Amino acid sequence: NTTITIGETHACNPVTIGGEQSMPVVMAGPCAVESREQLITTAQAVKRAGARVLRGGAFKPRTSPYQFQGLGIEGLHMLAEAREVTGLPVITEVMEPGMVETVAQYADVLQIGTRNAQNFPLLLAAGRNSKKLPVLLKRGFSSTLDEWLLAAEYILAAGNPNVILCERGIRSYDPQTRNVLDLTCIPLLHQLTHLPIVVDPSHSTGRRELVPIMSRAAIAAEAQGLIIEAHPDPDKALCDSKQSITPTQLEKIIQETHMIARML
Ligand code: PEP
Ligand code: MN
Repeated sequence: NTTITIGETHACNPVTIGGEQSMPVVMAGPCAVESREQLITTAQAVKRAGARVLRGGAFKPRTSPYQFQGLGIEGLHMLAEAREVTGLPVITEVMEPGMVETVAQYADVLQIGTRNAQNFPLLLAAGRNSKKLPVLLKRGFSSTLDEWLLAAEYILAAGNPNVILCERGIRSYDPQTRNVLDLTCIPLLHQLTHLPIVVDPSHSTGRRELVPIMSRAAIAAEAQGLIIEAHPDPDKALCDSKQSITPTQLEKIIQETHMIARML
């Protein structure tokens, strides 16, 4: 089993995922970096709640071009500042091959989103990033496991062994949930690959009331981590408000997942 260390290149508290890790690694923070104040407040709150990595999108791949697109480079500066303040390593999305090195200057993990899950030039560029930063590769919303693993192979074959897989739900026919969380993929991936697996209960359900129970289910199914959207005032979030939870709710989830992990 591959063990990946997150946070080796910037001053912060590094975290390992995979291999013999004892407790699930929870990455949490807002969908999008909205302002300096919002990010620092959230970072401090998710840290108090027990998260070990801060998430936040600076470049947002929004479905509509008329929605908030993220703060871009300014958002990356804010993420770096939040890391300095809290010691949490940060994960953020990169959307284009030409931006990999820029994002890698600020991030501790490069996130590749579901919409770019088979963007082969981007996968190769992430694989070649000069710091060998870990890459969290989300499952394409209509990718089979084989397609997903071959996408991961592009990063590995380009020379970067640090790939974390993230199940974030697949497209189906029922609009009750945003996507369908495929929990079965976790034990299957443990058979098929040595890479660590995390689950995103936020984008997979799209509904905040489902986030706690699907987080517990993911850890029971032996996911090694979770990536969760949390916001100090979820109803006011500029992006993905319906699936965002409060830091207080996050703290309860983290405690519950620790209890479950101890039973495994
Ligand atoms: C995200 O995590 O910010 C995101 C956009 O997720 P996904 O790519 O899974 O939709
Ligand atoms: Mn989101």
